[in-house]
Amino acid sequence: MESYDILWKTALPEIEKNVSAVSYSYHICNLFPVDVIGNRLVLCTKAKILASQITDTLKDKILSAVKTVNEEISEIAIVVANDREEYLSLYESEQASKVAPKGSVINPKFTFDNFVVGASNQFICAAAKAVAERPGDSYNPLFIYGGTGLGKTHMLMAIANYIKLHKPSLNVLYATCEQFTNQMVESLSKGNFTPQKFRDIYRNVDVLLIDDVQFLAKKQATQIEFFHTFNELVMQNKQIVLTSDRPPKEIELLEERLRTRFEGGLLADVQPPDLETRIAILRRKAEEQKCIVDIKVLTYIAEFNDEDIRSLMGKLTKVLFFSKLREAPITIELTKEALKESANGNKEELEIDDIISCVCNFYKISKQDLLGKKKNKEFVEPRQICIYLITDMMNVPLATIGQKMGGRDHTTVIYARDKVSDLMKTDKKTATAINDIKKMLLKQ
Ligand code: ADP
Ligand code: MG
Repeated sequence: MESYDILWKTALPEIEKNVSAVSYSYHICNLFPVDVIGNRLVLCTKAKILASQITDTLKDKILSAVKTVNEEISEIAIVVANDREEYLSLYESEQASKVAPKGSVINPKFTFDNFVVGASNQFICAAAKAVAERPGDSYNPLFIYGGTGLGKTHMLMAIANYIKLHKPSLNVLYATCEQFTNQMVESLSKGNFTPQKFRDIYRNVDVLLIDDVQFLAKKQATQIEFFHTFNELVMQNKQIVLTSDRPPKEIELLEERLRTRFEGGLLADVQPPDLETRIAILRRKAEEQKCIVDIKVLTYIAEFNDEDIRSLMGKLTKVLFFSKLREAPITIELTKEALKESANGNKEELEIDDIISCVCNFYKISKQDLLGKKKNKEFVEPRQICIYLITDMMNVPLATIGQKMGGRDHTTVIYARDKVSDLMKTDKKTATAINDIKKMLLKQ
């Protein structure tokens, strides 16, 4: 159960005491909790008319009841939506339309509750929880490192979401190292965004979460700025959490004093998951998509021994997709067929060319431009999304994808895939576009 559910369930008896029986069954029972943002509890109702009645007459009573459970909640928002999913998409598009230079949007979908814990990741999870519960006075900094796709970004967002719920007054900032660097560089370029503004953003936070600090390697100016930000925050007992794909000592050309700082807190590493954990994760992901998949099938997929969870989930997506395409139940046979590598990609039901054409149609660009070398944003983005879609929906070797995508290297394919996969977490527009293209493909 999510924390806002618990909050709401605990508050309900309290609310019942304060409102009439009719109002309780008519208004309150038609509300369901969906989120906590800052110190605001968000409740949804399906009917517009109820929303306005509740807002007019019951909000204060609800608030005072909720306060008895968590006194930091200071506001109740009533939103009209059919379910949490619809609410999330409304909320995210609202966030996306605000051009905030402050870090990234924290995706409410990544929480401790939906992180499957096993031997390989229990250390980072325990460390992250400790930090989320007592920011600033457990380990500072917490430095999480490990291979790609093992849940590091998930952990950062879980910390952010936990603090948003339990300590809504704290100011949490999540940013990728790339963002930090870009904003710093931008602040030096004499525009509206001055160095002072940059510092205001990064030095006035209670919790700073920076993802992928391995990208600090070789960036001297950024390292200096980072060092000062770091010191200032730690001196004020503010929490810092960093992630990296490698331990500090393996980050090339990292200034010694910065390395010492990184190692001064807790270093927590995450390992690839064992079979049991992989099965548990797959089961969880299938459930999230409201699919019941037989344990034999889950085991079959998990036995591929993927090192990272992203590609494990990719396999599950392929199987679910294949079953929809065929309108057939998810059996072992279907799974085998869906995951069978075809040497040239031609024998797939859905061909790479279909995806390429669909992406071209969607973005209204020519195939030549999609596959070509032009670096304009209007081509690069669809190109990377196209690569992502092929890796996500089909099971062909990366080298084949590179070849089909205009003769690109397999490392380019990996880069594009990971970039889009990360972007989808924070950028609603990209996530929606990808979903729409998938729907178009399914209808073909
Ligand atoms: P990293 O930042 O380490 O590259 P991510 O945090 O982006 O990896 O994880 C990749 C994907 O795998 C995400 O969708 C994440 O939610 C999922 N994931 C990773 N570990 C777990 C886990 N233990 N339980 C559930 N989902 C997980
Ligand atoms: Mg990451």
